[in-house]
Amino acid sequence: MPWYAPRHLEEALALLAERPGLIPIAGGTDVMVDGNAGAAGREYLSLAGVANLRGVSETPLGLAIGALTTMTEIGRHPLVCRHLPALAASARVTGAVAIQNRATLGGNIMNASPAADNPPVLLAYGASVVLMSAMGSRHVPYAQFHSGYKETIRRPTEILGEVIVPFPPDHAHHYFRKVGTRRAQAISKVGLAAVLAGRPGSWECVRFGLASVAATPILACALAAAITGSDHSVPRDEELAEALGRDIAARDDIRSTADYRRRVAINLVREALAPWRSQGGFDASH
Ligand SMILES: Cc1cc2nc3c(=O)[nH]c(=O)nc-3n(C[C@H](O)[C@H](O)[C@H](O)COP(=O)(O)OP(=O)(O)OC[C@H]3O[C@@H](n4cnc5c(N)ncnc54)[C@H](O)[C@@H]3O)c2cc1C
Repeated sequence: MPWYAPRHLEEALALLAERPGLIPIAGGTDVMVDGNAGAAGREYLSLAGVANLRGVSETPLGLAIGALTTMTEIGRHPLVCRHLPALAASARVTGAVAIQNRATLGGNIMNASPAADNPPVLLAYGASVVLMSAMGSRHVPYAQFHSGYKETIRRPTEILGEVIVPFPPDHAHHYFRKVGTRRAQAISKVGLAAVLAGRPGSWECVRFGLASVAATPILACALAAAITGSDHSVPRDEELAEALGRDIAARDDIRSTADYRRRVAINLVREALAPWRSQGGFDASH
């Protein structure tokens, strides 16, 4: 199949500007199982050999993670494990080891599956993405990136270059859990990530990202508002469920039912909040 394999970013962006129909390919773990891979008329732009799109570094804005960084690298990286433990956790359950050795963070985002494991975590951490083209770069809050089922706001001449994840508060509680048919090698029926810091009346960070409960990965804003708006105590379970019900649009599909998804989602929220219920907050005094 027609295949371009540039070594430098400028070359990759110039090729894409000339041929916006090129399909970027990173680890290939989604592209190669696409039934139309290699179909007549399809041309590919391999990013695998492009320098400077891989790795994790500390910046004033937070951790910068290159789009080509693999799940194996993310799951083991000392900076990710220290600052973003929920992302290290989601990377370590993205497929099995062979997949993790090839699958990239950029590919996981760009494939735009509502069931993907890392997007809810990036939403909970308040990440932004950097889209690059021959015309320049733009930073987009990740919460604005998915525009519909398997759709994103990426333009055909752009590649996803890196993901910037701000440092969470030092004493934040980080949570990630994926519920699937099996413990490993299963696509999620529900995934929840949470980053929580502060206490009633002085919240610093209350963010929940969810997978597999709507057409896109979602940031649960109504749920967060129900919690931050409750001054003295954790909202009752019914209030949490009502707020979550406004955020999600769970559906029946081959993996699960909408009812099961709603029940599991609220159970995961309760689990994420359990330390708060017992300690009264997530801050330096605990
Ligand atoms: C057996 C198996 C198990 C899996 N298990 C899981 C799982 O448990 N959890 C999960 O979330 N996913 C899972 N996946 C899906 C897949 O492995 C991940 O989505 C992976 O992160 C994709 O990364 P990649 O580098 O292989 O992407 P690719 O296949 O190379 O690309 C995926 C999509 O992103 C686009 N793309 C890639 N990189 C860029 C870029 N930098 N800029 C612009 N567009 C880009 C491609 O054009 C394509 O549309 C599984 C896949 C397989 C085959």
